[in-house]
Amino acid sequence: MSAKKLVDDQIGQLNQREENLKKELAELQGGRAALAGAVDDSTRNRYERIFKSKGENVVVGIEHSSCGGCHMKLTAQIITNCRAQAEIVQCPNCARILYFRPDMSLTAAD
Ligand SMILES: [Zn+2]
Repeated sequence: MSAKKLVDDQIGQLNQREENLKKELAELQGGRAALAGAVDDSTRNRYERIFKSKGENVVVGIEHSSCGGCHMKLTAQIITNCRAQAEIVQCPNCARILYFRPDMSLTAAD
């Protein structure tokens, strides 16, 4: 195979890949809009605000009784509120939204 043909093939594959990724991106953006529309306004606004200041990792787990975003130790009250899942609980230090799953360790790390 000539070098030119090899390069042309690769360019063709990259163009195809770009097309596929553009399609996938459009689908994901549509999905995000639908999901964001299902969240109530005040919670979504809170999320968008944190997203603007922190970038990724707006919703973080509780890791060893600490915030999964900034790693500050959380009070027992905050962890209790988070486990109750009755309201959106935010880290008092970095304001990220906290979540808790039963398989998460509550043992404080040393
Ligand atoms: Zn935090």
